[in-house]
Amino acid sequence: MSRETVDVLGVQIDVLTMPQALKRAAQLAQDGRGHYIVTPNPEFIMQALGDGRFREVINRADLSLADGVGVLWAAKFLSIPISRFCGLAYLQAWVQMVLSGIGIILCPRSLTSVLPERITGVDMVWEISKLASERGFKVFLLGAAPGVAYEVSRKLQMLYPKLLVVDVMAGPPYEPEAEVIRRIKDIKPQFLFLAFPATEQLRWMRDYSHALPGVVMMGIGGAFDFIAEAGAINAPSGDATKARRAPRLLQKRGLEWLWRYFTQPWRKQRIKTATVDFIKIVFNYKLTRLSGGQAPR
Ligand code: UDP
Repeated sequence: MSRETVDVLGVQIDVLTMPQALKRAAQLAQDGRGHYIVTPNPEFIMQALGDGRFREVINRADLSLADGVGVLWAAKFLSIPISRFCGLAYLQAWVQMVLSGIGIILCPRSLTSVLPERITGVDMVWEISKLASERGFKVFLLGAAPGVAYEVSRKLQMLYPKLLVVDVMAGPPYEPEAEVIRRIKDIKPQFLFLAFPATEQLRWMRDYSHALPGVVMMGIGGAFDFIAEAGAINAPSGDATKARRAPRLLQKRGLEWLWRYFTQPWRKQRIKTATVDFIKIVFNYKLTRLSGGQAPR
């Protein structure tokens, strides 16, 4: 199947809207082979710059969805041409960066000419559950703190009563990995949501996509915490802040990161990496590529 992708600092992202992504996910779930879907955000891309193996697993995914306005911004910013003359290029890049940055807030649609839509892990959980309830696909929820996946299944089934949630497990460190894999092999779900941190999601996908034929794994990070309004187990000890999705207006204006900055202060360093550091790297990448040098790794 042919795919149209955009390269953002070495990470391939599919050019798809939500309905197109769902159509593709349904095809993956029906061909009997093992597949995986990744949801790269700026933090993933930063990690991929310094970790070739991490990047390779992302780029081998069957579907790679832009989870973050920063990814849309980078794809758009990198697509705008600049002069070959260094000084002028620098000035142009600055102007483009400022204008595209303002565009995120004032006119979010201005970012969608390269990647058409932001497709978050949490939105995919709802949408794939809807698809699964209509098509009879079995869904397995894995990860987050004990009890969180169960609460998510309850909420999903309240909205989609026909949804077949075949099992919910917290997985490591609460349940041994081998036991989880045995369970997945027994049940054979079509969709397996992995609510793990990025590195773990990708390790599971790399290690098990071939061992689980007929299963589509999808990495969704902290999506279960948003749905169940729970705390992440990788938060620093003592920080029990419950995850809450940003108001719709902030989501639409690309300011969800700001909401997380204030509602989950333990994420501050990660948010800085995904915003300030990411913007700097994208800016330098654009100028370096222009002068024919090596892109930062
Ligand atoms: N988590 C887990 N097992 C672990 C560590 C973390 O299931 O060993 C969960 C954690 O509770 C959270 C998710 O993995 O629900 C990762 O969330 P994170 O905040 O890292 O992801 P993001 O929302 O930034 O994608």
